[in-house]
Amino acid sequence: DKIVVAIDGPAGSGKSSVSKAAARRLGFSYQDTGAAYRALAWYVAERGIDTADEAAVVEALRDFDYAIGIDPDNYFVRVGGIDVEEAIREPRISAIVSSVARILPVRAYLVELFRHVIETSDTPGIITEGRDITTVVCPDAPVRILLTASEEARMARRSAEISGQSAADVAKNLLSRDAQDSRVVDFMNAADGVTVIDSTDLDFDQTIQAVVDL
Ligand code: C5P
Repeated sequence: DKIVVAIDGPAGSGKSSVSKAAARRLGFSYQDTGAAYRALAWYVAERGIDTADEAAVVEALRDFDYAIGIDPDNYFVRVGGIDVEEAIREPRISAIVSSVARILPVRAYLVELFRHVIETSDTPGIITEGRDITTVVCPDAPVRILLTASEEARMARRSAEISGQSAADVAKNLLSRDAQDSRVVDFMNAADGVTVIDSTDLDFDQTIQAVVDL
């Protein structure tokens, strides 16, 4: 049977890089669900749709041609065949992604898509990470993890990743995104049966190992 690993956590907790590296070590697939919300935000921005117009965003799902690579060594994100992996990480997308993610029909659609990707993956296991994986997408997964880190550590890591933005701006954007997202799903507290890995005092390799051990 396929081993499903569900990982949630706030922005800047290191979920993506840790999940990808752990998947590589285990010979598992890796699914980044935040990429789908970001790709949809990019797509509606491209079409000039205001994310406050929920009906228009939901309508745009019809033509949203999304593809993601789940091989940790061949990761890609495409919309309509266009490689958007870099574009979806831009601050302008981070600034609007929460307003797309709070639209319930959008969530319902993407949750089904994520489950489909898990079901059709052909490796012995798959690590899926996001905000509601341990609670909504895969509440029955045998391994469920909440990856956390102190606010300070998360800010510092994200600042190191992003160039062209002041540390203060990075901190402000991260906190406001977490605050908005927390209104929709609770990823700051571990649900029943979810193991917390606090990476504040762990280095990258130790964090990966903690996931692999579980
Ligand atoms: O993980 P990442 O920071 O790239 O996620 C981008 C955004 O996508 C989050 O801020 C949140 O609004 C949304 N998201 C979500 N549920 C998930 C994953 C991401 O609402 N499972």
